[in-house]
Amino acid sequence: DAAANRIAAGEVVERPASAVKELVENAIDAKARRIEVAYADGGKTLLRVSDDGHGIPEDQLPLALSRHATSKIDGSDLLNIHTFGFRGEALPSLGAVGRLSITSRAEGADSAAQITVHGGEMSALRPAALSRGTVVELRDLFHATPARLKFLRTDRAESGAIIDVIKRLAMAEPMIGFTLRDVSGGGEGRVVFQAEAQSGDLFDALHARLAKILGSDFAANALRIDAEREGIAITGFASLPTYSRGSATAQYMFVNGRPVRDKVFYGAIRGAYSDFLHRERHPALALFLECDPTLVDVNVHPAKSEVRFRDPGLARGLIVSALRHGLAEAGH
Ligand code: ADP
Ligand code: MG
Repeated sequence: DAAANRIAAGEVVERPASAVKELVENAIDAKARRIEVAYADGGKTLLRVSDDGHGIPEDQLPLALSRHATSKIDGSDLLNIHTFGFRGEALPSLGAVGRLSITSRAEGADSAAQITVHGGEMSALRPAALSRGTVVELRDLFHATPARLKFLRTDRAESGAIIDVIKRLAMAEPMIGFTLRDVSGGGEGRVVFQAEAQSGDLFDALHARLAKILGSDFAANALRIDAEREGIAITGFASLPTYSRGSATAQYMFVNGRPVRDKVFYGAIRGAYSDFLHRERHPALALFLECDPTLVDVNVHPAKSEVRFRDPGLARGLIVSALRHGLAEAGH
């Protein structure tokens, strides 16, 4: 019901950037090759995520907006999660905190359909025009809860958070093309970030994507990290000790494709670079850990930014040795 949706919504959607994260993750789960995100006024008045993924069959559109309806998991398998989504909470939550519309054309369908939710009230299905994929639009986030609207920061700060979310997701998905536009003035708007879909070798693709996001200077000097132990694989790029960005904000970590911020990682990085800390306090890096989903717990927080290792010591040890090995190979 509407009240339960609003309570759950508060945990899933804190600000425009958290809505963007949920919507783009849905597009990634739908196997999109191109994802376009548009926002106006820091995402407060408009967020729109368009993808060319497999779409939602017309008869499942109302279901997609119901709480705990997910097409991705059957409930018996909560430990074995391969997709971003698994709770079926994002869309109903967004429908509770803003004016939500979903237009979709499922693969193989000969037309598209649209459904809207205002104040928790679902509309009837309407025919719509869309050649493929899904467009989700969220207008006037928190319009019905002025208290929460007041907690949002300036348009500039909220835009910054959206850009950060897109860059993190784009880093982990180099084979997907991303475009981010600020459409505050109306019309086509201004392209804020764009990364072409890469193809071919995954390491090359990742390298090209990192050059786009962390800069060509980083890409030209970064060490390639590639190690595996006890069922955890670690790949990515890390800066040389002599390379300096002078900030800790360029340390990106992903577990099974999910961006995570965790003490375990930052500690491991400090450990690996401990011999060089006088030269390089904040190495830049993008590391991707892949492991059996049962080795991690992603069910910690509704916003899913936290992933916990069942054995943090193992993860830490692997990261430290992979980085040290990379540094040693480069002669450090
Ligand atoms: P979850 O991602 O946890 O399953 P959501 O509320 O985010 O829950 O989405 C509900 C359902 O709607 C998904 O399980 C999926 O079937 C469908 N869906 C949402 N967004 C998309 C999309 N962009 N493309 C295809 N299907 C989608
Ligand atoms: Mg989802």
